[in-house]
Amino acid sequence: MQIGIAGAGFSGAVVARELAEAGHRVVVHDTRGHVAGNCHTERDAATGIMIHRYGPHIFHTGNERVWRYVNRFGTMQPYHHRVFSTVGSRVYSLPVNLLTINQLFGTALTPAQAQEFIGEQSDGTIVEPQNFEEQALKMMGRKLYEAFFHGYTCKQWGLDPTEIPASVLRRLPLRFNYQDSYFAHPHQAIPRDGYTALVEAILDHPGIEVRLSTPYTEAEHDRFDHTIWTGPLDAWFDHRFGRLGYRTLDFEEIRGTGDYQGCAVMNYGDVDVPFTRISEHKHFAPWEEHEDTVCFREFSRLAEGDDIPYYPIRMARDKTLLNRYLDEAGRAPRVTFLGRLGTYRYLDMDVTIADALHAADELTAAISAGRAL
Ligand code: FAD
Ligand code: UDP
Repeated sequence: MQIGIAGAGFSGAVVARELAEAGHRVVVHDTRGHVAGNCHTERDAATGIMIHRYGPHIFHTGNERVWRYVNRFGTMQPYHHRVFSTVGSRVYSLPVNLLTINQLFGTALTPAQAQEFIGEQSDGTIVEPQNFEEQALKMMGRKLYEAFFHGYTCKQWGLDPTEIPASVLRRLPLRFNYQDSYFAHPHQAIPRDGYTALVEAILDHPGIEVRLSTPYTEAEHDRFDHTIWTGPLDAWFDHRFGRLGYRTLDFEEIRGTGDYQGCAVMNYGDVDVPFTRISEHKHFAPWEEHEDTVCFREFSRLAEGDDIPYYPIRMARDKTLLNRYLDEAGRAPRVTFLGRLGTYRYLDMDVTIADALHAADELTAAISAGRAL
């Protein structure tokens, strides 16, 4: 079969590889001039530092199939992500752990004491948190919430935290020990040669052709037996019901020598600091040595027109619209919607890869059984 794929990010690359290995001919298109989608990394021409062009990406997973898969195509260098937050004129450890609690309250509590203390701070009137703010007040109380989450979340989402789903906060743990690893997964790493080299290796198969700087259009769809669409779901339907909401990011570059901030990511919790965080790229590759440094100050705003879609907003209006598009997608012939944009979900890389492997399993099974796609 001839399969056309829109998007050369992890979704498009993984499904392309699986289908090519099953004997199909696959042509992967991307509007951009590079593969790897938003995970794209490249060496900075002036300093040789590996830059995470669309924001910092740390690979973390508990899925053994996905972990074996990425290790097949590149060297995954162990990397434990630590994040700090500047609030007022002080620096704290994230995600909220015993050090953060003792720093903020000026205490020296033990784990059991801290648990009891935070239990007293928690808003006991909230039974089923209905939004981000209620989730935070129930989980940690007002002081921690206001220091680390209220201002940052207003900047990140452009909305009051009472308008944001509680699930957004549930991504982060609250720890009563000094464990400060940002993620809890058993496998945490960054590809030694960057994500773009990893995705290029996935796409390196005689059955796959990659066409960069080539948007996938309806004309392409007509040329293939089946399409895998990993671009924005609403774009496939020409935004006919309206646009799904996204946050986009602007990056302001800082260049210098030495160590700018001493860590990979520094968040800024105060609402009057206009950016959300600063990433210092060389700290994502501590196995390399660089005298110079390149950092990105990250600003979040509502995506408009041709802005790059980063975070699906998924507010009530978007969900209503999403359901209309999902209904259409269910009826659309010869096309599979996949990935972060194609399904309008916030997906980490490991979930993206797991979903793509699953979609390829289903497609190959359907093709060999002669079922309509
Ligand atoms: P994408 O990477 O967005 O790829 C889609 C591709 O489709 C793009 O290259 C686009 O150009 C192309 N495309 C769109 N329309 C067309 C068209 N018409 N024709 C041709 N091509 C088209 N995950 C983690 O696991 N760890 C992290 O630390 C992490 N950090 C993140 C930080 C930020 C700021 C963001 C926004 C996300 C982060 N993620 C992280 C999530 C990660 O970026 C996604 O899981 C991953 O990019 C999803 O891959 P994808 O292929 O589905 O989508
Ligand atoms: N968050 C915050 N302060 C921080 C870090 C995170 O308020 O210092 C909030 C923010 O709303 C974010 C959510 O917690 O969207 C989940 O955090 P995560 O690090 O997973 O952020 P994302 O991957 O969405 O950037």
